[in-house]
Amino acid sequence: MPLTHNSEGEPIGFTAFAAKYATEEACYNKLYEIRQEAGFCCPRCGCCVFYPIQKRKLYQCKECRHQTSLIVGTAMEGTHLPLRKWFWAMYLVATDKRGISALAIQKQLHMTYNTAWFLVQRIRQMMGNREENYMLLGIISFEDADFGRAPKELIQSRGKRKCKVLVGMSKTESGKPRYAKFIYVKDLKGKTIQEAADRAFMPGAKIETGTCRSYRKQIKEKYLTSYATKDATKEELLWLRTVVSNIKLLFNGTYHGLDARHMQRYLNEAAYRFNRRKMEDMIFDRLLATIPGSSHITYRELTRGTGRV
Ligand SMILES: [Zn+2]
Repeated sequence: MPLTHNSEGEPIGFTAFAAKYATEEACYNKLYEIRQEAGFCCPRCGCCVFYPIQKRKLYQCKECRHQTSLIVGTAMEGTHLPLRKWFWAMYLVATDKRGISALAIQKQLHMTYNTAWFLVQRIRQMMGNREENYMLLGIISFEDADFGRAPKELIQSRGKRKCKVLVGMSKTESGKPRYAKFIYVKDLKGKTIQEAADRAFMPGAKIETGTCRSYRKQIKEKYLTSYATKDATKEELLWLRTVVSNIKLLFNGTYHGLDARHMQRYLNEAAYRFNRRKMEDMIFDRLLATIPGSSHITYRELTRGTGRV
C-alpha cells in the first residue's frame, strides 16, 4: 500500500513514525525488541542470558560476565548519537524516493556535515548487508552500465575513466521488473563478471544479456547445464536500462560530486529502495530489522576507502 499524505502534505507514515519514536526510550525499547528477536547473545562466549545493568544500558553475560550493549557488533557500534537521530535518519533514507543527501540530513537533524555523512554511509552499509542475503533467480536481464567518473587511483593505475557497474534484474514471466542487483566492478574482465554472477544469481537462472561475447562465454562456461544464454533484444533489456537511467538521474540530482570510492554504498541504497518499492509502508521497519545483521565500519575505514561494503 503506497504512502498517503495528511492535510499538511506529510506522509501518514511519517506522522505515525514521529509519534512512535518521539523519545529516546521508545527507540531504545524498539532496538531491544529487535535484538531479542534476532537472538541477542554474548559476543565473547555465545551465551544468550544476560543481567541488565540499567544505569549504563549494558548487559552482563550470565556465563562469562562480559558486558555488552545493544549496538555492539552492528553498524551502530561506537556511535555517540542519540538513537532518535539514528531512527530519524534511517526513516528519511529509507523513504525518500529521490534519496537524501548528507547535507539534507545535516540540516534536518542538526549535526555537523561529517557526522551526517558518516551516519548516512553506515545506513547504506546496513542496506548493503541485507541486500547481500538475496540472490536473483528466474529470468534475469544482465549488462554493464557506466556510472560517472572512476576513482582517481583507478584512473591512474589502470586508465579506467568510468565507474563500471554490473546490473542484474529479475523479471516476471510477462517481462515486468522484480528485483535488481547493482555491483560496482573495477573492470569487465571475464573473471570479474564470473565472480559477480556467482554473488548475484542462483544456479538455474536464465540470463538475458547483450551481445557482449565475454559475458556469454563466462556465464556459459560455469553454468553450462543450468544457464541458458542468448543475445537479448532491446526490448528485453528495456526495463533494466530504464531503471539504470532513473538511478543515474537520482545520483546526479541528489548526490552532487558523488565519491566513486563509495559507489557500492550508493548503489546499495538504490537497490534497497527499488527492491522494496511495493512495500513502502513497511520499508522503515524492514530497515530497523537489518540492525542486528549489519556490520561495523569506522570513519577511518570509510574515508580511506578500505572498509568492506
Ligand atoms: Zn559471555
